[in-house]
Amino acid sequence: MRGFRHALHLFVPIGVIALGAYALWYVYDTMSVRERAMLLMRVETIAQLISPEHVRLLTGSDADLQQPHYEALKSQLVRLKEVNPDIRFMYLMREVAGEIVFLVDSELESSDDYSPPGQLYEEASAELLRGFEPGAEPVFEVYEDRWGNWMSALAPLRDERGETLALVGIDKNADAHRAAFYLQAGLVGSTTVILLALFAVLYLFHHKEDEVMEMKTDFVAAAAHELRSPLTAIRWSLATLRSNTDLPQSARGTVNDIYDRVRGLIDLTNTFLLSASTDHGVMRPNDVSVVDVTPALSDAVQHSVMFARSKNIHINVTFPLTEKIVLRADAARLRLVFENLLSNAVKYSPVGSTVTVSFEDRRNEKVFRISDQGIGIPPEDQKKIFSGYHRAGNAKVSGIIGSGFGLYMAKKIIDYHHGSISVESSPGQGSTFVVALPSGV
Ligand code: ADP
Repeated sequence: MRGFRHALHLFVPIGVIALGAYALWYVYDTMSVRERAMLLMRVETIAQLISPEHVRLLTGSDADLQQPHYEALKSQLVRLKEVNPDIRFMYLMREVAGEIVFLVDSELESSDDYSPPGQLYEEASAELLRGFEPGAEPVFEVYEDRWGNWMSALAPLRDERGETLALVGIDKNADAHRAAFYLQAGLVGSTTVILLALFAVLYLFHHKEDEVMEMKTDFVAAAAHELRSPLTAIRWSLATLRSNTDLPQSARGTVNDIYDRVRGLIDLTNTFLLSASTDHGVMRPNDVSVVDVTPALSDAVQHSVMFARSKNIHINVTFPLTEKIVLRADAARLRLVFENLLSNAVKYSPVGSTVTVSFEDRRNEKVFRISDQGIGIPPEDQKKIFSGYHRAGNAKVSGIIGSGFGLYMAKKIIDYHHGSISVESSPGQGSTFVVALPSGV
């Protein structure tokens, strides 16, 4: 889980930056590279629609104004501009004695931008002049002239012999285009920065939360650990005292009472230990090794023997506790799981019954079973008891004290071992908790 979070902390910002960079590249590509290609394509298409016969007849002087071929070209450019609203100007130009003059344009005579035939175009760039050279390719340029800033595409209009009769030009307003480009790029950039900032805030927040959680976890684990040893010693002393037949009847009740309370306290420290060993703090990988887990099981049985004896319950282990069961595991925490299951088995069983611990070595897994003849668990509660703070209805009404926390933590520990924990139970007849752990070492 933690490894996954670390990976997430690394890959999310890299992903956001990569996405942002891709989006910026996409904006640049569509607004610049593709726009240029599109304009060139459009001007070539327009050039093909214009009749070279009409253009050839143009003289580039006032005399053209009265001619029908001028009129025809003029109205064609006006119409073409109407259906291409993003184009600001369309025009035909010709080179006359080394100078560039307008032949006809898309503007009406009443417009300020109208260029009469023969008007000199003094700002012609070297790039534009090259467009008149024999065999020249269409030209694209971004430039400034007396009318503003423009993105222009110019295509040669040739006759059947390949001679250039004119250049057909279309102009788009570069300021508007640049503003649109900066707006889109700005949006993409700021979205990326906002996402990164958001991520940084979340990261810092989680990091702090993790640190606090770890401190809490370590503190709880240390406190529980320190409490356990003296409590266990007190419990053993009380057990010895209880078995003393010389003890007066009045004192016996008090000793039994103290014994039960101390046992309750030991259960509580167990729960704290289980909690500290899994919740958020997560078990450290170093704690897992190839070990013989039989001593952990044996200790857990020892831990419950006195409690069982107080209820005259027999704990029957069906296999020799000298047998080695080698696993890749965290033995200390597995012991907590076994202790919890055994202590539950005794706790929820009637006086004089039997608790059975068995082991099965399957091909892929080692299976431990802890069975009792106790109150059992109603079917509707069987799944829920592992999800935390859930106690079965019959346990609640029985008056047996519990927190509903032990099995939740036991499941976390078993999950960490990539194993499974489940229960088979019939109310009133008993329960069998099954722990299966992968065999591989
Ligand atoms: P606690 O026993 O402290 O309530 P657990 O998490 O260990 O908490 O168990 C959760 C619930 O599962 C118990 O409250 C009880 O309802 C049920 N349970 C667990 N073990 C047994 C058992 N051996 N027999 C019957 N009920 C059990």
